[in-house]
Amino acid sequence: MTRIFEDDLRSGFGTRAIHAGQRPDPTSGAIMTPIYQTSTYVQDALGQHKGYEYARGKNPTREALERNVAALEGGRHGFHFGSGMGTLDSIMKLCRAGDHIVCGENVYGGTFRLFDKLLQHLGLSFTYVDTRDPQKIADAMTPKTRQVHVETPTNPLMWITDLRAAADVAHRGNALLVVDNTFASPYFQRPLEFGADIVWHSATKYLNGHSDLVGGIAVLNDDDLATRLQFILNAAGAVPGPFDSWLILRGTKTLHLRMRQHDANGRRIAQWLAERVGHEHVLYPGLESHPQYELAKRQMSGFGGMITVELGTKERAAQVLNRVRIFSLAESLGGVESLISLPALMTHASVPPDKKAEMGMGEGMIRLSCGVEEVEDLLADLEQAFEGI
Ligand SMILES: *Cc1c(COP(=O)(O)O)cnc(C)c1O
Repeated sequence: MTRIFEDDLRSGFGTRAIHAGQRPDPTSGAIMTPIYQTSTYVQDALGQHKGYEYARGKNPTREALERNVAALEGGRHGFHFGSGMGTLDSIMKLCRAGDHIVCGENVYGGTFRLFDKLLQHLGLSFTYVDTRDPQKIADAMTPKTRQVHVETPTNPLMWITDLRAAADVAHRGNALLVVDNTFASPYFQRPLEFGADIVWHSATKYLNGHSDLVGGIAVLNDDDLATRLQFILNAAGAVPGPFDSWLILRGTKTLHLRMRQHDANGRRIAQWLAERVGHEHVLYPGLESHPQYELAKRQMSGFGGMITVELGTKERAAQVLNRVRIFSLAESLGGVESLISLPALMTHASVPPDKKAEMGMGEGMIRLSCGVEEVEDLLADLEQAFEGI
């Protein structure tokens, strides 16, 4: 757990992105936070140390990133873990056997896998609901419900959950609202401002933005909850190495610039796709035809570069995936380079087929992560890949 420097909260987003959590190194004045590649810290005398004892618990490079992302989310405490899933697994250790969790039914496939294949067998129980309707969250709550998990926009269906309404429902039932904010990034959406208790990220995606590491981050405000999560971080030890913290710090310095370009490219490409295959087949919260466009505009200040397209058949999807030249066929998202994937067979392979069918996630559905290349080149690439569709 690292508490933010309070004065970092006084500047605007782009200034925070570059400076928050980072102060020139006191020994040399180095403007960049050093990579503290160490496992332990020498103590001056028995019981006298500089606040650092062993690097599982604390590392100065990690702390700089934790303060940086906490300031971007507008929260007080940041926690950096070795992956997004490691982050969520540690958050779940706030629960005890017997607790019940309500979770959105279209969350990241790995979230469902962690809950369904591992944590369920350790005595936690889960109910999956369509969190677009807050009443469905309320109906699923029991006296044992301790956490409500939502992802918004969802992957890949782009469902939007009303964060304020979800927080109210969770709090009325004495549960925490936990939000996966990976898709929007704090540049476009800050769930803590709408009442969420914990916001977390796969830092692998937009926060780092350069597709060169795996990492995760959680941010929250409550001091007691922060103490408990720090205990888990140190006790369970799903921590990153300092080089990864340093790389993500380098990434977050340009988060605001990258997100503006992802958003500009995303809007242009979504518009092109909508004209090409019909608005009803393009899922992008920034299109007026998105059924929750008004809600998206209320709680997001932009929509980013994630677009889902329904092509109807696996053959058409395969044609596009196999023909693209600038877009790369790969899992993951949020990097500077454009990626394309088929969620039902790739990221969401572990979701049972009947569930996928129920949600409308078929084998003709492709997902684009629009990077920050020249949009004209991306459009030309899609034009040739869509030939005949
Ligand atoms: C990738 C991803 C995760 C998992 O994070 P890892 O860093 O891969 O462990 C969780 N949620 C969303 C929305 C993701 O895209």
